[in-house]
Amino acid sequence: MGDTAGQHRCADCDTRGPDVVERGAPFGPLCGTCWEGVQNLSDNEDALADGAAAPPLGADPRCRHCNRLQARYETPYNRWVLLEPRILVPWQIVPVGHRWVVTPDDKAMNTRERPLSLDKTCRIRIPHHLVCPADEPPADTLDPFFHALYEENLRNWDTWDPPDDCDGPYTFDPDGDDPD
Ligand SMILES: [Zn+2]
Ligand SMILES: [Zn+2]
Repeated sequence: MGDTAGQHRCADCDTRGPDVVERGAPFGPLCGTCWEGVQNLSDNEDALADGAAAPPLGADPRCRHCNRLQARYETPYNRWVLLEPRILVPWQIVPVGHRWVVTPDDKAMNTRERPLSLDKTCRIRIPHHLVCPADEPPADTLDPFFHALYEENLRNWDTWDPPDDCDGPYTFDPDGDDPD
């Protein structure tokens, strides 16, 4: 091998090269091809599976079920998704299929089955529909955090006033101090 000092190794395909660029948590360094794969992993069918059915720009970012205002993001496939405002949680407690990240270009992406960073400080976003108070409670198998958040959403359903800055960051840390 030649001198590859200073070049990252792609976290997916293991190649090194100038197009391997740090893509931010939780993806890490990825080559151009792998990054494209990440961004294209969803199509319209997947939008349905992802629950990316938020009203587009022009309409209020309200949940169609509970009518609460949420944080709305564009997805890589030109649909919109509602994420819980300012909630950031360790990805390990979030079931596959509900693990969302906001990329540096401000798009929301469902990471699906993709392996995520082992960094314990890595936090991700969750979709509103997982804890929508107009829906059934989260499945028993889910982490107690989701039940707590659902209960909280139920409790303040009528008085809900979304934070001015819906995009956070607000980090949920059951052991830490509230940053607010
Ligand atoms: Zn790669
Ligand atoms: Zn809702």
